Amino acid sequence: TTHEAALIGLGAMGVALARAAATKGRRIIVWNRTSAKAAPLEAAGVTVAASVAAAVAASPVVIVCVTDYPATRSLLESVELAGKTLVQLSTGTPQEARELAAWATARGARYLDGAILAVPSQIGGPHANIMTAGAPEAFAAAQALLADMGAVRFAGEPPGAAAALDFGVLASLFGALLGFYHGARLMESEGLPVDSFGELMAATAPAIGEMIRIDADAIHHGRYEAPEASLEICWRSMELLGRHAREAAIDVSFPDFAAAMFQRGMAAGLGQEAPAAMIKVLRAGSAAK
Ligand code: NDP
Repeated sequence: TTHEAALIGLGAMGVALARAAATKGRRIIVWNRTSAKAAPLEAAGVTVAASVAAAVAASPVVIVCVTDYPATRSLLESVELAGKTLVQLSTGTPQEARELAAWATARGARYLDGAILAVPSQIGGPHANIMTAGAPEAFAAAQALLADMGAVRFAGEPPGAAAALDFGVLASLFGALLGFYHGARLMESEGLPVDSFGELMAATAPAIGEMIRIDADAIHHGRYEAPEASLEICWRSMELLGRHAREAAIDVSFPDFAAAMFQRGMAAGLGQEAPAAMIKVLRAGSAAK
């Protein structure tokens, strides 16, 4: 092989990954369905392959970052993968990761499933985390390359582990973002600047991270007694947020959702326990009703 890695997919994220690797002096070869997207990289000295098969043939490590798992499967269907290390960085479910792991292994490849916990502009910087799981030999083969793109973590051999952690992060992130958008609207309604609200949120981020770590510990050990702040306090705060939204005549979706969730904890008699006791409400809930 002539290159250290092939990078398949040059969307917003793929380009950022390729740039980070090239900047660190890696000999990479890239391919994208829409070839025009490879032009800026080619101008920067990166090799562009004429086909997926050519890119894969040129490298021991194949990194894929396209829209989803079905796109990955269709791209690699007729490509020789025996002896390759396949690293999937497209977002998917744990089940999709397990299926692709079995599929790639049956074709003689070593499989590493990955999840990128960053936006493209953060790739190569201090805030990019890349979660991986799968074959330890695949991790060993790809670790140094991935480290050029972000801080790499290995979650172990179950191939669905990186996707599961990714989805946990996504749920946390988008829960927080939806709350933030409500907060931004709240600032508007109070005639306050949204940019200083954003600065405050960035400043409180480490404290929020600490609270989440404490809650995770409580759930892990099943300890919800004598909390610093009770579930009832959380419920009351969200009720107040709803009252504010009605007083200010702004959208009530977020506060009503949050208050209704904690209300279920109250109804289950968990008011004096830690808010992490909400996990008991979720355990009692089911999928589609
Ligand atoms: P884009 O929409 O910018 O790019 C999608 C890429 O997938 C393009 O290269 C596109 O090719 C390719 N593609 C899609 N379908 C096919 C197909 N059937 N055959 C061949 N190529 C295909 O997405 P991103 O780069 O932003 O995201 C890529 C992955 O990274 C996603 O799974 C995303 O969830 C994940 N990710 C993205 C983050 C982000 O902030 N952007 C953050 C974390 C993860 P073409 O150019 O020809 O259309």
